Amino acid sequence: VDVDSTKGKIPNIPKIVDVSDLASSLTGGNGGTQQNFSPVPVEEDPKILAELTFTPPRELEGLSRDEVVDLNYDDLVKILKTPIDKPKVDNLVPPPDNPNNYERANATFMILVRNKELNGALHTIQQIENNFNKKFHYPYVFLNDGKFNNGFKNRIRDAVSGECYFEKIDAQDWSQPSTIDPDRQKNSMKQLDDEGVGYAKQVSYHNMCRYYSRGFYNHPRMKQFKYYWRFEPNTDYYSDLNYDVFKFMQDNHKTYGFTISLYDVEQSVKTLWPETLDFIKAHPGYVHPNAATQWLTENLQNPHKTEMAQGYSTCHFWSNFEIADMDFYRAKPYSDWVDHLEKAGGFYYERWGDAPVHSVGVGLFEDKKKVHWFRDIGYKHHPYTNCPNGPHTRGCTIGDFTYKHLKDQNCLTNWWNFEMDDADKAMY
Ligand code: GDP
Ligand code: MN
Repeated sequence: VDVDSTKGKIPNIPKIVDVSDLASSLTGGNGGTQQNFSPVPVEEDPKILAELTFTPPRELEGLSRDEVVDLNYDDLVKILKTPIDKPKVDNLVPPPDNPNNYERANATFMILVRNKELNGALHTIQQIENNFNKKFHYPYVFLNDGKFNNGFKNRIRDAVSGECYFEKIDAQDWSQPSTIDPDRQKNSMKQLDDEGVGYAKQVSYHNMCRYYSRGFYNHPRMKQFKYYWRFEPNTDYYSDLNYDVFKFMQDNHKTYGFTISLYDVEQSVKTLWPETLDFIKAHPGYVHPNAATQWLTENLQNPHKTEMAQGYSTCHFWSNFEIADMDFYRAKPYSDWVDHLEKAGGFYYERWGDAPVHSVGVGLFEDKKKVHWFRDIGYKHHPYTNCPNGPHTRGCTIGDFTYKHLKDQNCLTNWWNFEMDDADKAMY
């Protein structure tokens, strides 16, 4: 396919970092609300930090920011318009004749949801069932900080083919820890709110982001499962899936699957990256030799974001739909790292989202070969869409991504150019 050009073939040579530059850029955004941040003494491990620096590909040299945006967006549309079918692997598991005695993977759907979101949840569940789950009957876990009412449970049970678990999250796992300083929190949230960052002052939103970042996979119910498919109310799934996606993950050794990759609100993650560098300085062995460093540090398309996020592009996999292996989160690198993040307090002093947290974790601590773009799954969470050109997709416009004025939010082209190899690109 013509989109598979030589563009983005980054030489695997770490850029030499000017230590003084790096140190000053790391302290650059250290405003009054980030007292926890201390500059990383880079001399201790300059090699690892050098590898975490973006090396611009020759093809993009000399282009303006707007030209990079246009090129990336055109590439994205070209890729999305390229005809595709199922993944080209020889181990796809088709729907069984009888889903009632099918040996499923150790997997579940999961959603964090409130009673008032019943209709939105049903809207999405109907699509998941029609397109996939009526053929496989995977279970669902519904998590809530409150108690699900009987109306919610009955309507859901009627709509799904798999077993349902309705679970209340322990208050101590959900609520903010007592170590959060209320004055500092109040001041930082006022600042974020003044800067126009959504949900800044809504503590429940911060709780939700933190729980999706570091809580859900250790919920007693979730602990019985290895893989999960997260979904959200009022999202749309457009593709009829005729293979078991969980077994696809398992049999092809995938850790993390996604459909949409975007930049983040840079104010929400001001110190996520410096805190992460601080952590990996103490645990350099946790960084995978095949980490997705270029996607994480790219600074051409939205340089103001990379600057405010102190070296992090803010690129992430959009986590409102993700299929992943929770054993990755449960293992030491990710767990130790999110413990470090918890101590830093950025879930409450900033507004770290679970999407950047999953993405930085997967991007750094996992082999990027184990990340899979489910290019064949048509999906929409307003205002972004993944709409593939395949025979099983109906209801979306092929190549649609978002409104024109948001096209600079596309980070998928970076993933494609910088992190996918030829075999990944030839998967469909
Ligand atoms: P956005 O996509 O970032 O705008 O966030 P959403 O409002 O869609 O929330 C993300 C997910 O978390 C959705 O599945 C919500 O139903 C769920 N959620 C958000 N806040 C809460 C909460 O306070 N309690 C529960 N139980 N679920 C929540
Ligand atoms: Mn949402």
